[in-house]
Parts: sequence; C-alpha cells; structure tokens
Amino acid sequence: MARANPHFLNLKSSYLFVDIAQRVAAYQKAHPERSIIKMGIGDVTEPLPAACREAMKAAIDELGSKATFRGYGPSEGYGFLRDAIVENDFANCGISSDEIFVSDGSKQDSANIGEIFDASATVAVTDPVYPVYVDSNVMAGRSGDAEGDRYSNFVYLDSTPENGYLPALPSEPVDIIYLCFPNNPTGTVISREKLTEWVNYARREKAVIIYDAAYVAFVSDPEIPRSIYEIEGAHECAIEMRSFSKIAGFTGVRCAYTVIPKALKLADAEGNEISAHQLWNRRHGTKFNGTSYPVQAAAAAVYSPEGQAQVKELVSFYMENARLLREAVTALGLSCVGGENAPYVWIQVPGKSSWDFFDNLLNNAGIVCTPGAGFGTCGEGHIRLSAFNSRENVIEAVERLKTVEL
Ligand SMILES: *Cc1c(COP(=O)(O)O)cnc(C)c1O
Repeated sequence: MARANPHFLNLKSSYLFVDIAQRVAAYQKAHPERSIIKMGIGDVTEPLPAACREAMKAAIDELGSKATFRGYGPSEGYGFLRDAIVENDFANCGISSDEIFVSDGSKQDSANIGEIFDASATVAVTDPVYPVYVDSNVMAGRSGDAEGDRYSNFVYLDSTPENGYLPALPSEPVDIIYLCFPNNPTGTVISREKLTEWVNYARREKAVIIYDAAYVAFVSDPEIPRSIYEIEGAHECAIEMRSFSKIAGFTGVRCAYTVIPKALKLADAEGNEISAHQLWNRRHGTKFNGTSYPVQAAAAAVYSPEGQAQVKELVSFYMENARLLREAVTALGLSCVGGENAPYVWIQVPGKSSWDFFDNLLNNAGIVCTPGAGFGTCGEGHIRLSAFNSRENVIEAVERLKTVEL
C-alpha cells in the first residue's frame, strides 16, 4: 500500500471554525427568533469595485475575438500588471517589475514559499499566528513533534499585551521568520524603527523574513512603513507578499503577488550563494501557469484613477466599521488594539477564557466573534472582531454590545 506523507499526520485538526459553527447552530436552534450577527469572519462583504468589473468584462470580450484572444500567459504575470504594481506599490523602493511574481493568492504563496528552503530550516512564527505559516511547515516536515498547542522545532515569538503584541527578536538561531503587518489577528502595525530591528537581525543572522502585507491598504498612519523594502537592506533578506483580496474584494476573484528581490541569496550545502529569485522563478514556472487574464486585467484596474478612488472608499468604509467597534468595546471598559490601521479589533477579556467570552457574546448578544485561542497559545484571553461587515450589522452589533454583562 502506498505510504502517506508522514508529515501530514503531524497536523493538528483545526476545530476552530467547525467548533464556532456548532455552537452557533446550537444557539440558533434554542433561539430561532434571534438574529445572529457574524463578526468573526475574515472575508470581505462589499462588492467588487466598478473599475475592476469593467476591466474584467473588457478582457473577456478580448478573449472572445480571434484577433485579441490570448492563451497561456507568462506564469509570473503580465507585464502590464507587474509594471503597475512596481509604479504604485513600490515607488522609490528599488524594486523592478521582474522581481514581482503574480499569483492567485497570498494564502498559497505563503504556504508554497517554503519549497525553496532546505527541509531542515528552522522556522519562527508569531503567536498568535495566521495558521497557514504553521501548517505548511508541518507538511514540509519542519515542525518536529506536537507538544500541546505547539511544535518542538518551531521558534515561537510571543505577541502579548506586555510587549504591545510586537514580539521580541528570536533568542535562538532561526532561518525563516514569518511576519504579518498589519497583523491578522491582532490588527497591530509595526513602526519603521521596529521593522528596521528585524531587517538588521535577519541580515546579521542570515535569516529570511517572509513579510505578509495583505492588509497594508488599511494603514493610514503616515509614519508606518508601507513596504518592508522601505527599510535599508531588506532587499537582501525579505520576501514581501501582497494580495488584492482585502483591498479590492478579490477574495473570490483571486489575485496576489510575491516580491523576491534578486539581491536575496540563500546558501547551498557548501555555503555558495544561490539566488532565491531564480529558485522561485523555476518553481513558479514548473507548478503554475499564471493567473487568468481577466483577473489580472481587473487587478491592474485597481491602479487606475477610478480604481484608486473606489478602493479608497472601500477601505474607509471598513475602517469606519472598525472605529465603531473599537468605540463600543472601549465603552464596555475592555482594552483592545487594532482597528486603527487594520480591519481587526483584538480584545482582551480579562479573567475569562476566549471560549467563555465567545459563549457570553453569543448567548447574551447574538454576536459571533473569533476566540483568540484559535490563533495560538498567546491568543488565549482574547477575541477578534472583524470590520468586514455591512454597516447595518455593525450598528446593530454596537447596540447589542451595550447590553452585554462582562
Ligand atoms: C486574507 C489574508 C491573506 C490573503 O490571502 P489570499 O489567498 O490572497 O486571499 C494573506 N495573509 C493573511 C494573514 C490574510 O489574513
């Protein structure tokens, strides 16, 4: 019988969303008259911007005519999109368009990037964390054994109220560091000074930072860096990932990109320098045939003047939701972070487990949140509220929060 990949057997079942669904279903059954507001979801709610829809329709019409039909495109993405990305997202960052790899999602990019590293590489992840970084490295055999909620070979970087949810540099050698800012789930951002410490650390220790900037569009504070490549030396040690999912409602349309500067070098067994860009280029060309043309056309439309105005409006809509949620939570006397430069509000629930607080919110207010424990050990004692919702739901949730007894 064919043997299964043993590393997959090391994965922990993620019961988080199943558990949430079961508790919600039980509550709804007991209270069929009560409407439930789902504030836990990490999916956008507002429709695709008009500029993107129009570009997609025009692209489809092109595909319908023999003169303008296109088949396979370049696996790394069309030049029109890569150029627009560099001009708009990396002006003055020293990134060139051939360092951009267009894909169909940051989830898969952040999971697949591990393939260019040695199987024995030591991985550092924050706690709480976006679970993809953890599970993809478990599948790759880098985790070691499961020990409670953690794995023996990963280095965990605790994000706690004490450190303002900005973890300290690793105290032991690591090869790959996953950082996500603005952060999911905590909604925190990283200052230029702190990010510089990470870049300096990675250069000194010859580690690589995988920088997930999926939520960068939500940053309004001018002091917060928009790209890791604003930091000197980051080209030698950082891979940045961005997605059109949250900025432009592409969660179902699917388009993202990964930046791998040519200056980023890995080592072979003898210590010779190997270009990470070349390895990823080879991997991308082997396993991917490109994001579809209509989708890339829609993504490029985000950078048109109309597209820019429309996504700005989307972002401010969600951020007003976030502001209302923060205000309501603060009025309850709870401490929270996030919701200012990110669409998530991360709330401390002192003296309660995150699941107890989840039950309390559900049973007494009909509000569904995400229990922090689902994102890691340090998420215990916290819940996440998402600003991705209709205004109507947010206003109703704010009213209901007023009646919650802690
Ligand atoms: C939503 C999200 C992404 C985007 O994933 P896509 O596959 O591009 O939709 C990436 N990273 C984090 C942390 C996210 O929350």
